[in-house]
Amino acid sequence: EVYLDNNATTKVDPEVFKAMEPFFCDIYGNPNSLHKFGAGTHKKMVEALDYLYSGINAADEDDIVITGNATESNNTVIKGIWVDKILNGNKNHIITSEVEHPSITAVCKFLETQGVSVTYLPVNEEGILEAQQVADYIKEDTALVTIMWANNETGKLFPIKEIGQICKDAGVPFHTDATQAIGKVPVDVQACNVNYLSFSAHKFHGPKGVGGLYIQKGFEVTPLLHGGEQMGGHRAGTVDVASMIGMGVAMKLATSEMALAYENNHVRKLRDKLENAILEIPETIVIGGKENRTPNTTLISIRGVEGESMLWDMNQKTIGASTGSACASEDLEANPVMNAFGSDSELAHTGVRFSLSRFNTEAEIDYAIDVIKGAIARLRSISSSYAY
Ligand code: PMP
Repeated sequence: EVYLDNNATTKVDPEVFKAMEPFFCDIYGNPNSLHKFGAGTHKKMVEALDYLYSGINAADEDDIVITGNATESNNTVIKGIWVDKILNGNKNHIITSEVEHPSITAVCKFLETQGVSVTYLPVNEEGILEAQQVADYIKEDTALVTIMWANNETGKLFPIKEIGQICKDAGVPFHTDATQAIGKVPVDVQACNVNYLSFSAHKFHGPKGVGGLYIQKGFEVTPLLHGGEQMGGHRAGTVDVASMIGMGVAMKLATSEMALAYENNHVRKLRDKLENAILEIPETIVIGGKENRTPNTTLISIRGVEGESMLWDMNQKTIGASTGSACASEDLEANPVMNAFGSDSELAHTGVRFSLSRFNTEAEIDYAIDVIKGAIARLRSISSSYAY
């Protein structure tokens, strides 16, 4: 079995699981309760929060709100800004990119039905945009800029530091969806002038169903969930304590200098080995090219090979990959990210995304290369559109 779909989700690190276990049957007090049962839980939650702050270099005065996932964090920011600055303010414009995750794009599309004006910045053939594009579209009534840190399909890294500076200079709040960046590249909210940042634990070997929203001091946002005073009023409802603690430990493990170095050396080496072996086959290309990517991801287009058929062949040999984001894989529409790059429509149906993690081994990659080469040869030999 070789799991090469870590941008969809990751295995929980056994150390994370161990840290979570006591919080089901042994330490179960409500962290908001004043008795000793609550205090034990509360102490561990503070420790987990510390790991989260360190992982993204948040300042002590900033907030990190524990949410259900990155989807909730993204919705909270965009809808909160809508309420605060558009419905109750004099702004009416949001800037985003064409290649965001649906948890950004679908919210923006919804707000358009409510009369909000949204600019979707296109990406170039390298799959990224220039910070200057953001500057060109900022207007008097821009309420928010939301641009992802790393793309889920290609791993391409966006110029977050430059965009942060532009937004700061223009006085426009800046949100970034860093779901695919945490644990893969250094993420520093202070150095990059980020005001809001979203992440999801299950993308960095934490549990599913828990995420975070960083809010810089001075940047308020009306909550999505009203109720109790949990999370400083930013998100009502009793937090999933075990998951939050798991996310903290996962963040600590994923963002230490050693972990990031391992990602950049070991994981990158395995990704490059896999990618270079596939690129030896004629008429294969890396979508967006090799520069400026997270070390674990490659999106490869293989002419004459339908992405879905490739997945099926690989699955027969117990290799798991993806044709693009799992969230879009139920329909056979061409991958929107590949479309945005201006690939021709045939290429857009031929993308296979491989995303590795620190748990992959060289032996797994060697096995995967054999299987992939065999699958491409087989599928091309029966393809009506591909002639050798
Ligand atoms: N943003 C990006 C860039 C993602 O890749 C994902 C997960 N595919 C999400 C947001 C949403 O994460 P979750 O499903 O945990 O809400």
